[in-house]
Amino acid sequence: MAIATTNPVTGEVIRTFEELTAEQLDDKLERAAAAARSYRLTSVEQRAQWLNQAADVLEKDADDVSRMITTEMGKTLRAAREEVAKCVHGLRFYAAHGPDFLRDLRNDAGNVGAKECFVTYQPIGVVLAVMPWNLPLWQAMRFAAPALLAGNVGVLKHASNVPQCALYMERLFREAGFPDDVFQTLLISARRVEEVLRDDRVAAATLTGSEPAGRSVGGIAGDVIKKVVLELGGSDPFIVMPSTDLDRATDVAVRARTLNNGQSCINGKRFFVHEDVAEAFLEKFTAKMAALVVGDPMEDATDVGPLATESGRADVEAYVDDAVGKGATVLTGGRRPDRPGWFFPPTVLTGITDEMKMFHEEVFGPVAQVWTVASLQEALEIANGHPYGLGSNLWSEDRAERDLFVRDVQSGMAFINGNTTSYPEIPFGGVKRSGYGRELSDLGMREFMNAKTVWIGQDAA
Ligand code: NAP
Repeated sequence: MAIATTNPVTGEVIRTFEELTAEQLDDKLERAAAAARSYRLTSVEQRAQWLNQAADVLEKDADDVSRMITTEMGKTLRAAREEVAKCVHGLRFYAAHGPDFLRDLRNDAGNVGAKECFVTYQPIGVVLAVMPWNLPLWQAMRFAAPALLAGNVGVLKHASNVPQCALYMERLFREAGFPDDVFQTLLISARRVEEVLRDDRVAAATLTGSEPAGRSVGGIAGDVIKKVVLELGGSDPFIVMPSTDLDRATDVAVRARTLNNGQSCINGKRFFVHEDVAEAFLEKFTAKMAALVVGDPMEDATDVGPLATESGRADVEAYVDDAVGKGATVLTGGRRPDRPGWFFPPTVLTGITDEMKMFHEEVFGPVAQVWTVASLQEALEIANGHPYGLGSNLWSEDRAERDLFVRDVQSGMAFINGNTTSYPEIPFGGVKRSGYGRELSDLGMREFMNAKTVWIGQDAA
């Protein structure tokens, strides 16, 4: 894919960017390695101060950056502003709490015949981050903020359709006062990720993106024995039980499926509704989905903008056509509108069967699949049959149902009576083919650290 900003509202290519040459890439990796040698010795208090300064810079730039996000990938300006605010909060959160996450862990020295014994967390060096376009600032920030606080150095290979956001990330950390080359953006295509990951100057990688990209990066990392965190696809279940308030549940269901124009890994994608409330749920949910305003994402009144890329829209359309061709029923949406840009309407489908591709895969657009189920057990059985296990969502006032859901759902995150969201404060990640490792919180920060065991014997008498 060419590295370019293309406006999804019009399809117009606004700006193209040259890829780094082999010499430029080598130079950037050399600089990163040099930066890592000195940056790791800076104090954590100093790094926290730089992170707070980055938050100040981002706050100052918030309006321009939000518009840049919307222009590059089509989310509503309102959503882009929320994304930027979340990044500011994330930077401040790691500045405030990161030092505590890095404290030494004391062991009982006497048990191991030592005078002193502890685990100390040390940075591992240059970490490659391969990131997607769907939350172009937040995805990169949720890697960068904890990694930089921990004393690691970042090189970012961002998605090819968000180069301006990618370059802004590098500028932001420089302007905040971080030492040169502690965070660099690499404008390279996906096929050059392998070369960077195999490079001895790079210690580890994190990838957020599709399953094929994860399989490739995970395979290479295994070959060169480097740590990797993979945040991949999701087809999150959203389960609605009779005891819940349907007005609230359907409000959140609409938001869950259409947030980010339906292009979030943790969008609720498969809705399992108990038969006692299925009719009422479908009536409310379909009406609310149909009432959403689809249009120019820069307009305040718009709820859902275009999909980010032409191929992304074609993929969504193909999933819907496949399902409809095999007997699914369209309750609203289902067809692209007759207008320029890569729009696809909020869509509700019922009658999903396992012959349909969407049953087994991930639809990255505002398409809700709704099942009617006889019990929570039936919902969990179908939900857990999917190869992904990222987030999950239950709506129930019943204690026993909540307990069963938490125990039985195969997902990295289980949210009850609220929308699934990422927070800097709590771990984020999946199981099964949604990937492995965690981002965010103390767990995420420690993924790219050497947990070094220190054992100190008794002093000579
Ligand atoms: P993608 O094609 O995998 O792209 C993501 C990033 O990986 C981009 O920077 C891309 O570069 C790069 N890439 C693509 N193929 C690669 C390969 N073979 N080797 C190395 N790098 C490669 O993903 P997408 O389709 O744009 O994004 C949507 C997917 O990401 C969905 O499946 C979504 O669920 C997932 N996602 C997961 C999370 C999570 O936290 N679990 C969060 C957000 C999104 P180019 O742009 O240059 O191709």
